[in-house]
Parts: sequence; C-alpha cells; structure tokens
Amino acid sequence: MPELFDSHCHLDFPEFDQDRDKTLEQCWLAGVHSICIPATEARHWPRVLKQACSIPGSVQRYVALGLHPYFLKNHKPHHLDELKTLLEHHSKTICAVGEIGLDYSLTDSNREQQHYYFAQQLELASQFKLPVILHCRKAHDEILKKIRQVKPTRGGIVHAFSGSEQQAQQYIELGFKLGFGGTITYERARKTRQLAASLPLSSIVLETDAPDMPMSGYQGQRNTPIRLPVILEHLAELRSSSAKEIAQATTENALSILAK
Ligand SMILES: [Zn+2]
Repeated sequence: MPELFDSHCHLDFPEFDQDRDKTLEQCWLAGVHSICIPATEARHWPRVLKQACSIPGSVQRYVALGLHPYFLKNHKPHHLDELKTLLEHHSKTICAVGEIGLDYSLTDSNREQQHYYFAQQLELASQFKLPVILHCRKAHDEILKKIRQVKPTRGGIVHAFSGSEQQAQQYIELGFKLGFGGTITYERARKTRQLAASLPLSSIVLETDAPDMPMSGYQGQRNTPIRLPVILEHLAELRSSSAKEIAQATTENALSILAK
C-alpha cells in the first residue's frame, strides 16, 4: 500500500501530550508517513515549530503557522509582525500559512476583524510564496473573492471541505486541493460524500483533523491520525476505486502543495 498523508492534524494539541511519540510510531506502522500540523494561534507557534520533522524513516511532519478565525479573540495585530519574522527565520521549516480563513458560523465573532487577519495572512503567503491551509465555514464565496484578489502563487488546501460543487470547481481552478476527512464516514453527510465521490481525484487530499472530527464508529473518542486508513477505505468505496490508487494520488496531491 502506498504511503498516506494526513493533510490536517493538530498533533501539537495537549490531547497528544501523553502519547505523541507512540502515536507517531503507530502512524508509521499504519502507513501514515506524512502529517501536516497547522497552528491556530500565536502562543502555539513555538510548540508547532518543535513538531517539524524530516528525518528519513519516521513520520515527516510539515508545519504551518497562522491565526485561525475561531480563536479571533486571542489574536493581536502585532502577531502578524511576529508571523512575518518567523516566516523569514524559518523559511526551510514552515511549509504553509495556516490555518487561516473565515468562520461565519460563529454568531458572536467580529467578521470585519476576521477578514482583516485573513487578508493580511493571505498577503504574507503570497509574499513568501507559500501555500495556505484554509478553514472556512459559511464563507466560501467571500474567501474565493479574496483569493482572486490576492492570487497566492502556491494555492493551498481547503480543509474539511463542505461547500458546493461549484465552489469546489472554483477552488480547483485557483490551484487548491480539497480536504476530506471524518465527515465522509457518516452516511447522513450526503452532499459531502457525493462531492468526495465525484470530484477529480487530482483535487483531493485526506485529513483526520485529529483530535477533533471523530469518525463514524469512534464517536466520543479522541480522533487520531492512526485512523487515516479508515477515511481512505471510505473514499475508495465511495469512488468505487482501489484504496491503493486513492492513497497514491492523495499523497501526491498533498506533496504537490506542501513539499518545498
Ligand atoms: Zn484545524
């Protein structure tokens, strides 16, 4: 079986403090040989940077630094200057700006501020020729509009994609890959499963979003990147193709965005 790439996993979260090394060993044995770890807020950047690893024979860890819209209240304008400095000093280590985006499902969040941080970080990605890891809820058209304005040269990944087919096509045309994870393991997620089944394989990457987004059959448990093969199996079934073909393509797709 070709190796797998978990394109979105919060391995730096405290949920993994007890067994992070063991988790990575088990990932390796399960064929999950690459993981992208996106940061969510500035105070976590040092611990995310520490997770970066490119030692042959162990799980390759790609790190992304950014300010997540969900944690807007913790972000300060000076964090953007710090991000710029880190991007300059760790250009070999940081593979993307993320996770960034807009979350309009939050009712008590200042959308203007969200937009400010998103736009500024998109500009930084463009300036440093880095891809972006996008978080988007109920704001795909706003995000697409901004991407068209800034035109980041390296595209990116829309994590946990849940938009329409039309929006998916627009992202693809702009050089983005779409992340599919635990959602497709639930039969009730008809729309997302339908998209995962029908979009071109060249536009799809796999993700767990661990420790969040538990898969069907594992509700109430901490999610873990060791279970990425479960998502692979579901996607193979939805697309009526071999797990081997999907594994190979999705890993190549993730590398095409995240590898330096
Ligand atoms: Zn995330």
